[in-house]
Amino acid sequence: MTVPLPDHALLRIAVDGPAVAAFTTRRGGVSAGPFASLNLGRSGGGDDPEAVFANRRAVCAAMGVDPGDAMMLTQVHGADVHRVAEGDTPRGRGVGTFDGWPEADALVCDRPGVLLAVLAADCVPVLLWHREHPRVGAVHAGWRGLVGGVVENAVAAVGDPGRLGAAVGPCIGPCHYPVSADVRDTFAGRFGDAVVRGEAVDLRAATRVALTTAGVSAAAITDAGGCTACHADVFYSHRASGGTTGRHAGLVVARG
Ligand SMILES: [Zn+2]
Repeated sequence: MTVPLPDHALLRIAVDGPAVAAFTTRRGGVSAGPFASLNLGRSGGGDDPEAVFANRRAVCAAMGVDPGDAMMLTQVHGADVHRVAEGDTPRGRGVGTFDGWPEADALVCDRPGVLLAVLAADCVPVLLWHREHPRVGAVHAGWRGLVGGVVENAVAAVGDPGRLGAAVGPCIGPCHYPVSADVRDTFAGRFGDAVVRGEAVDLRAATRVALTTAGVSAAAITDAGGCTACHADVFYSHRASGGTTGRHAGLVVARG
């Protein structure tokens, strides 16, 4: 049986189109210890798989989706986009234990009712939706993915960027993200000097530049969640935890 999530487990996004979008927090799930409590990831190492699968089922229920219609990825910090095709979803393949997800860092889909989920714990989860048509996307963008163009690639794959809405979810802020001079220089060259803040880079600001460069209107971008390391009680933060932690998710589903 799936225990319903409390309302504060999800940050629901106001969507101006035929889609439902949300970011999960770490609240309201069944995982324990450093993974407490709504861990949706299997890559952090050490969490009980049954707890992760119970959390995934609870999130699907909260989004009104059968777990057999939920798509995830084997995220590799690249820039590839996976377009969901007939037969990709785990329906009929043993949802509880299914882990054979495609390798990519963005999902796009034009099939109503398929939930797209990307995982993060400091990286930027980005959600995309078309304002008129049931077309959605979900992106996992760390610094490598941002530089590689995963956000622009996902916008192009959903298509019609001037008619898209976007939500940029909880991610590590420049307050907690010092990086090497090489990475700062790469970001300045790629996204402009304004995304470099002292020793740090601002992943959220770079994501916004990537979205608008790809053609998404600045007015159509919603910010949600703040800095994961500042709010490590609400979200998972790889840096704030020292590395042993869970994953929250960005979630979007098109409605027909
Ligand atoms: Zn911070």
